[in-house]
Amino acid sequence: MNNRDQMIGIYVHIPFCVQKCPYCAFNSIATVHLPSGIWDAYSDAVLRELSFHIAKRPELSDRMLETLYIGGGTPSLMPAEYIKRLVDGIRKTFPVSSGQSSGQEPEITIEINPGTITQLFTHDKLIFFKDAGINRLSIGIQSFHERGLKALGRVHSVRESLRCYELARKAGFRNIGIDLIFGIPGQSLREWEADVNKALSLRPEHLSTYNLTIEEGTVFSRRYEDGRLLLPTEDEQTAMYELGIDRLRSAGYCHYEVSNFSLDGLECRHNNRYWLAMDYIGLGAGAHSYVSAPGWGVRWWNESAPLTYIGQIKDSGHATAGMERLTHEEAITEGIFLGLRKIRGIDLDWFKDRFHISIKDSHRSRFTALEAGGLLYTTDHRLRLTTRGILIADTITVSLI
Ligand code: SF4
Repeated sequence: MNNRDQMIGIYVHIPFCVQKCPYCAFNSIATVHLPSGIWDAYSDAVLRELSFHIAKRPELSDRMLETLYIGGGTPSLMPAEYIKRLVDGIRKTFPVSSGQSSGQEPEITIEINPGTITQLFTHDKLIFFKDAGINRLSIGIQSFHERGLKALGRVHSVRESLRCYELARKAGFRNIGIDLIFGIPGQSLREWEADVNKALSLRPEHLSTYNLTIEEGTVFSRRYEDGRLLLPTEDEQTAMYELGIDRLRSAGYCHYEVSNFSLDGLECRHNNRYWLAMDYIGLGAGAHSYVSAPGWGVRWWNESAPLTYIGQIKDSGHATAGMERLTHEEAITEGIFLGLRKIRGIDLDWFKDRFHISIKDSHRSRFTALEAGGLLYTTDHRLRLTTRGILIADTITVSLI
């Protein structure tokens, strides 16, 4: 067990957005449907839910808070006082490192939609976030082309994205991540190259480049089925991904996960907890949680409709919609599925310690086939995807399930 295993990560889901983007399958609803007093009721419910989990598993309250990630939805829509209430309530529940002697301060991230900073509020909001203890921003810029933003149905302009980034720096944030999407309808390789170059000119500490996927139940999936969505070809999307990797690596970014790059070791510690199968508690509508004990781990998830979530928390203190105990086989598969997303791959000793079996013995025939196909290899006592394997990481990990 390493030190991080004795810590905890907390995820808070804020399921509200200005409007629903046509490609989005996240659990979120447009704020136009919300009753007044929603922020108060929602932040209250989140903190009550945390109290419920702690009462049920009191040993968790001894864990040091390593990370807090406020995601969505659009958490930057939430008035800053409620964000502060959440951060304060969560910090008070767990021992927190001062960052002086006992290790790093917790990483506290909030996702920002540029439209919510420059249109609806002033940059004071970013200063309030900073005062509330937030020390990392993840800004959903997605594209530096107006046409790309329009195709994605985003609520902000390129100008607002740039202004938001500038205000974030002015507010004193020193750990900023930018999200970009490639494979946007109508996007060319040249446009993507310009997006990557523009992002590099800002020099954020972290960059995520996501390939647009067509998710079931979205407006894009209906358009796609009707032949009304003109996406770049698969080859073009692969070229975009490769170009992103090349440019970012050459600019000094470490490619540490299939879609993620960072400067100076500033990997997202919260997401690293997911990829290393470490404990986290998810609070809020539709949030998922995972703890690695008892047995081979337990996972649970919440009711996803925000108002029902609030009602259930009021009635019973929790809104758990489902729970499962992992079998040994499921825990192994999940460890591989998540670990292979890391570019460094899976440490063979860690795997054996954790699952009491050698990784190669766990899925021997499939690993042999992937190695023979040049998609997987072992080096420095780690099992990793090759560059070709990284390009089809999702397909490979699904084939191992
Ligand atoms: S802002 Fe994000 S969470 Fe909200 S609808 Fe758009 S993609 Fe989904």
